Amino acid sequence: MLSEQGISKVMAQRYVRIKTTKGQTYYGLLQLRRSVQVLDAPPWLQGQPTDLELEPGSYQLLAPCAPTKIVAVGKNYIEHAVEMGTTVPEEPLLFLKPPTSVTAADREIHYPPQSQRVDYEGELALVIGEHCMDSTPAQAQGKIWGYTIANDVTARDLQKKDSQWTRAKGFNTFCPLGPWIVRELSAGARLQTFLNDAPEPVQSALLNQMAFSPEFLVSYISQVMTLLPGDVILTGTPKGVGPMQIGDRVRVEIEGIGHLENKVVARSLPVSP
Ligand code: MG
Repeated sequence: MLSEQGISKVMAQRYVRIKTTKGQTYYGLLQLRRSVQVLDAPPWLQGQPTDLELEPGSYQLLAPCAPTKIVAVGKNYIEHAVEMGTTVPEEPLLFLKPPTSVTAADREIHYPPQSQRVDYEGELALVIGEHCMDSTPAQAQGKIWGYTIANDVTARDLQKKDSQWTRAKGFNTFCPLGPWIVRELSAGARLQTFLNDAPEPVQSALLNQMAFSPEFLVSYISQVMTLLPGDVILTGTPKGVGPMQIGDRVRVEIEGIGHLENKVVARSLPVSP
């Protein structure tokens, strides 16, 4: 059996962003006993460990980065494109989710009253480490600092109703992200989504079944807009998308990262005077 020190050597380092009970926000390294070694800057901006170590219970996890934008890709798995009644586009299909849609692991997804059909979409998220403009795919690979898990929550009825996807994809809490970032990921890792306590996943695919690879996507997007450190790319969802109900718990898992779980709650609109 491995010693704890041995385990920490083989377990991927987990990069987190936290808020302390005193209200301070830090980037840090999550330790085996769930304490957090605080960094003096975001790790992609060469943040170094400080002497400050926070004990479990003295902080809460935030989403692991604070992107200026979230660029998402539609229909990037063949079988998902088919279930949507289409094919994979010849070029990546891009859309944006606002930074205000981001929420953390274990926080609530707010089901908006404007929709009667809100779907989960389990996805691999890429975190950009440095300024990226007009990069080739080979250069783009070096700009991907790490990987985390996302749920591209979608009001499916509003997506069909509106010709633009901004409303359907843009509600507050519609981008659960986390719980942490890892630097390395196996190309053949499995992505799975589970609803409540059902043992069978509703989505299950290998990341290498994507139509357009992560480095191709980052290169393609960088020829449209400059990607900045901490920006996030959502790489598309595999087949098996479906609705969530108020009270449901949804869990997206990626081998080598961990799992991202969120509960769905009702959001009511303010009462008009
Ligand atoms: Mg999606």
